[in-house]
Amino acid sequence: MRGGGVYIVGTGPGDPDLLTVKALRLLQKAEVVVFDRLVSPEILDLVPTGTTRIYAGKGPKHHHMQQAQINELLASLVHRGCTVVRVKGGDPYIFGRGSEETEYLARHNIPFEVVPGITAASGSSAYAGIPLTHRGLATSVRYLTGHLRDGLELDHDWQSLTDLNTTLVIYMGLTNFEHIASELITHGLDSGMPAAAIQNATTFRQRRVLGTLSNLAVRVREAGLSAPVIFIVGRVVSLANVLHWFRTDVAIAQEGQAVADAE
Ligand code: SAH
Repeated sequence: MRGGGVYIVGTGPGDPDLLTVKALRLLQKAEVVVFDRLVSPEILDLVPTGTTRIYAGKGPKHHHMQQAQINELLASLVHRGCTVVRVKGGDPYIFGRGSEETEYLARHNIPFEVVPGITAASGSSAYAGIPLTHRGLATSVRYLTGHLRDGLELDHDWQSLTDLNTTLVIYMGLTNFEHIASELITHGLDSGMPAAAIQNATTFRQRRVLGTLSNLAVRVREAGLSAPVIFIVGRVVSLANVLHWFRTDVAIAQEGQAVADAE
């Protein structure tokens, strides 16, 4: 982009091998990289040491930088003639607030491009052995947020989420999963419906906890999972042990411990 502009770049769920060729090229040639909390350290390692890096992360409780400040930061960098690479975990347009940034840029006539990334749903699905659709088990998928801004109550149309043929993928659901599961059960989903939680999907820190709608929240708590965690609910989760191929050292140690405990 001549004269400055912003690339809004999705970097995928964590494994640097899942970057797109375009994302990698932009990271390596950037003048300034503005990054989020969810961008993995392995991906930031690909940014050359001389490149200016600005952290604009937002934690679940603690907002390091407000969205308006981030928008203004991007604009001021471009006004100084910089080409900015704004990197985000996963895909910028799936719960990534990428469109709030591009909306601001568009309204201020600042040139931008959007580079899609592999969203956490796809990354965790592949690396946890859980297909999001499967003939006979799921004919559709829904991505939901498990968290609303400013502590507002989740107001999903729960009834519409209880279709047996639909896989549910819940982003940002760690705090509210127990509540979400109980709403789904109240509205008719079987409490024995297979469900999974995946932490740090696609990285060597990946952990996977399997259960059912009724017991997964407790299992996740017992396992001490911490953000980022994504939940998958639906009949497809029943394939998780058959299709499991990605084993991290942590998972192998835990499985070994579980076997030892059972003996
Ligand atoms: N734009 C991102 C999502 C941002 S919302 C994307 O497309 O993936 C943040 C939520 O994404 C987290 O709370 C978690 O639910 C999910 N998430 C992102 N990366 C993840 C990962 N590596 N493992 C598990 N969940 C992840």
